[in-house]
Amino acid sequence: MPKLKDQVVVITGASSGIGEATALLLAERGAKVVLGARRLERLQDLAKRIAATGGEAVYAVTDVTQRSDLSRLVTLARERYGKLDVLLSNAGIAPISLLDELRVDDWEAMLDVNVKGLLYGIAAALPVFRQQGSGHFVNIASTAGLITTPTMAVYSATKFAVRAISEGLRQEAGPHLRVTIISPGFVQTGLADSMTNAETRALIADKMREIAIPPEAIARAIAFALEQPPEVDLNEIVIRPTAQR
Ligand code: NDP
Repeated sequence: MPKLKDQVVVITGASSGIGEATALLLAERGAKVVLGARRLERLQDLAKRIAATGGEAVYAVTDVTQRSDLSRLVTLARERYGKLDVLLSNAGIAPISLLDELRVDDWEAMLDVNVKGLLYGIAAALPVFRQQGSGHFVNIASTAGLITTPTMAVYSATKFAVRAISEGLRQEAGPHLRVTIISPGFVQTGLADSMTNAETRALIADKMREIAIPPEAIARAIAFALEQPPEVDLNEIVIRPTAQR
C-alpha cells in the first residue's frame, strides 16, 4: 500500500508554487489534502484538478496572519477526515529590498506571514498532535535561512527564525512527533510577484528563469520525508539547483 495512503495533510500557501505542486503529488500518492491560501479561485481550481484524477482535497480560504484561520483549517481537516497527520507550513512572501529603502511595511509583512504564520500553525496543530500521539510538522525555510546577502536581510531573518523555531520544536516534541525543515534554493514559482521593488523583482525573475528548479523537485523531497517510517525523522533537507552557488 502506498505509504501516503489516507494521510491527512494540511498545506498552507497551497494556491501556487511549492504548495500547489506538493498538493498534487501527495494527492496522487493517496494523501487527503486540505488546502489553505487567500486566493479562493486558485484553491477551487486545484481541488477540482485533484478530484479529476481520483484524489481527495478540500480547501478553505486562509490568511496565515490570522490565528483563527489556521485553527479553522486544522478543524476542517479533522471534521472532514477525522485526524491530522501533517501540517505543511509553506505560505511565505519575499518582498526583499535594501534596508536603506526603509520598506518597513514589507518588513512587517514578512514577519507576519513567514514567522507569525508558522507559529499560528503550530498553535493550531500541536495540541491535536499531542492528543493523537502522532503528527508531523514540515516547515518551509530557505537557503536564505542558512546564509544572507544584500537585499535579503529581513527575509533571511524570517527564514533563520523558521529554522530556529523548527529545531526548538523538534527538541521539545518528544518521541512521537516529527519535525522537518525544507530549505530550498531557487525554485520557479510566483514568489517574485511578492517583491515590491520592481528592479529587484525583475532581477530575481531573471535569475529564476536562468537557474531555478521546478517546484515538483521540492514536492518530491517533502514526500520523501513523509514516507519515512514513524521512528525516522528527517530533520532538514537542503535542495539547490545544481547551478546555484
Ligand atoms: P509562491 O508565491 O508561488 O507561493 C506562495 C504561497 O503562499 C501562495 O500560495 C500564496 O497564496 C501563499 N501566501 C502568501 N501570503 C499568504 C497569507 N498571508 N496567508 C496564506 N497564504 C499566503 O512562492 P513559493 O511556492 O516559492 O513559496 C512557498 C514557500 O517557499 C515560501 O515560504 C517561500 O519563502 C519558500 N521558498 C521559495 C523559494 C523560491 O525560490 N521560490 C526558495 C526558498 C524558499 P495566496 O496569495 O493565495 O494567499
